[in-house]
Amino acid sequence: MSKQVRVRFAPSPTGPLHIGGVRTALFNYLFAKKHNGVFYLRIEDTDQTRFVPGAEAYIMEALEWLGIAPEETVGKNEKFGPYRQSERKHLYQQYADQLINSGWAYYAFDTPEALDAHRKQHEAEGKTFIYNYHNREKLDTSLVISAEETAKRIANGEHYVIRFKTPVDETLHLKDIIRGDVKFETNLLDDKVLFKSDGMPTYHLANIVDDHLMETSHVIRGEEWLPSMPLHVLLYRAFNWEAPEFAHLPLILKPIGNGKLSKRDGDKMGFPVFPLEWKTEEGVSSGYREKGFFPEAVVNFLALLGWNDGTDKEIYSLEELAASFDLSRVHKAGAKFDPEKNKWFNHQYLIKQNDADLAKDFTPILEEKGVDISKYDITRIVSLIKERANFVSDFWDLTDFFFQAPTSYDEKASKNWNSATPALMQELISTLEYIDGFDSANIEAIVKDWLTKNEIGMGKVMQPFRLSLVGALKGPHLFDIVEIIGKEETISRIQKAISTL
Ligand code: GLU
Repeated sequence: MSKQVRVRFAPSPTGPLHIGGVRTALFNYLFAKKHNGVFYLRIEDTDQTRFVPGAEAYIMEALEWLGIAPEETVGKNEKFGPYRQSERKHLYQQYADQLINSGWAYYAFDTPEALDAHRKQHEAEGKTFIYNYHNREKLDTSLVISAEETAKRIANGEHYVIRFKTPVDETLHLKDIIRGDVKFETNLLDDKVLFKSDGMPTYHLANIVDDHLMETSHVIRGEEWLPSMPLHVLLYRAFNWEAPEFAHLPLILKPIGNGKLSKRDGDKMGFPVFPLEWKTEEGVSSGYREKGFFPEAVVNFLALLGWNDGTDKEIYSLEELAASFDLSRVHKAGAKFDPEKNKWFNHQYLIKQNDADLAKDFTPILEEKGVDISKYDITRIVSLIKERANFVSDFWDLTDFFFQAPTSYDEKASKNWNSATPALMQELISTLEYIDGFDSANIEAIVKDWLTKNEIGMGKVMQPFRLSLVGALKGPHLFDIVEIIGKEETISRIQKAISTL
């Protein structure tokens, strides 16, 4: 790659960023890092009817949280600024005019009613109305009236749009880094609107002008933009500008069934499709951050949605991803979203966290439950159970018995409690009472010694013992629990079990 890599993420601020958009941003980020290039963020807000307040700030915050903030954007290194298209409005008209003057575009004055009538008439004849070379000379355009007449109508304030004059009878052989050669017939394209008389460009014009002015070397975006690629390449030709390279990323598919992953899939199956929570009057959509995902885990998971480095490696830091990432190894086929795998990644990152940090994250939950945390070594408790958790929010269910005696006993497990159990539990209490050094290993040695000497089967004592302390046959190493809750509490729980069961 000879010229400097400059790639962009160019969302329209129409709502929260979908996880597919996050992946597009991530792949751009990784590509930039890999090639010592620049990743920038441009806000494409030319369609004011779809503008949603808060969406832009949301996008920025999401990228920050994920650790993939752009190097240039609104308010940050505005080398090619402004980075918000609504603030670049003054720029686009001259480019639209340039295309008119060079014959690559024309004015169209058709009213919405006239277009509607054409559509209906075509339908009646069993045809589809496409605004292109077929009929552009039969419609109300500057192609069929004089320049003077055109100028007069514009001066009179008539509504118009500027349309692209798509070349006729050409097969475009285009290159996509992921898809290889892609072919388009120009006769199947419509003459897209580039500019409107309200002074606003459409997406297509603004996008191409800005990608050019901001020196974009590669356009990496979702597959849904592939149909726009021929128009975009033709626009570069029309302007006589060098086109960037293109890469269209595969769709992210539903976990079950066919089609694109939607917010509804997430709602149905209980996983977020947005990086951060998004609140509107209609309700709250959950976010990865609020659900307790680690940003590194989300990044790692998303990177493997549609890409791998050809090995079985799954756990990558952001730096490792940037070093291994290769656009030509991105798959063409859609990538199925697997919510279980998503959690598995979080688990991998959770167990790598430092126990003290996890304890800190767990503290607010404990405080809410009314636990006096000064009485416990939370770091130790966390170290005992984190292997079983995907999220910090799982910790309470895995540790509640450290902080409170069971209020009920698992029915199935209670079957291990038989007529001989109470006497054995009494003996266990007596054994425990005499233990001085009340640490896990010591207690275990003494209890086991008692069992061996008296030829009592392990299961006969251990299962009822666990049931007494935990209320079920779950939890970490039994003697660690005994040590942490202490002698007095252990004995009191056994006594309670004897009287209840
Ligand atoms: N504004 C477009 C979007 O919302 C950008 C598409 C592109 O990257 O060209 O996705």
